[in-house]
Amino acid sequence: MNIILLGAPGAGKGTQAAVICEKLNIPTISTGNIIREALKNGTEMGLKAKSYMDAGKLVPDEVVIGIVKERLAQDDCANGFILDGFPRTIPQAEALDAMGVVIDKVIDIEVADEVIVNRLSGRRVCEKCGRPYHLESLKPKAEGICDDCGGTLVQRKDDSIETVKARLDIYHNETEPLKDYYAKQNKLVVVEGQDTVEDTSKLVLAEVEA
Ligand SMILES: [Zn+2]
Repeated sequence: MNIILLGAPGAGKGTQAAVICEKLNIPTISTGNIIREALKNGTEMGLKAKSYMDAGKLVPDEVVIGIVKERLAQDDCANGFILDGFPRTIPQAEALDAMGVVIDKVIDIEVADEVIVNRLSGRRVCEKCGRPYHLESLKPKAEGICDDCGGTLVQRKDDSIETVKARLDIYHNETEPLKDYYAKQNKLVVVEGQDTVEDTSKLVLAEVEA
């Protein structure tokens, strides 16, 4: 089964991808990982990406699409795959269609913006050992101090309210239109994100098996 996972940053796509991956034994393909892989293996598209990165430029769409194409042609994708973080825009979705890649299901994990802002902006991480915490749902025993190593808990820059809101804006403007795009192809399935990861996984797996 060829699956695309959609959802805002912080909706928990990565976790759900891992759950589907284990259930169906198909690989998860996330653009960050495959770009790193293509660079390491020195593929044709990997070398192209490198030339942009070396020049301090963003890797353009056609190169990202080329890297996805190379990756989907590998043997382990023969029985299916999960795309996580791609396509991110309508032009990328159109490019995927143009490649002749047939998508069976697009699973959209819906989580309200307020919940995501609270989830991400409440995250803290131990400066010393990296253990994750949350101001409301995963508190340390002593405020601001790591239970394990006594290190100071800090907020990652990516998790500041301003950054999270900016990422959500980009998602709503550039990625969310994909819901309509795939609804028109009768491939969109919407899963409401639940309070716990486990409950969301149950709904996701029910859709995968439907
Ligand atoms: Zn620590």
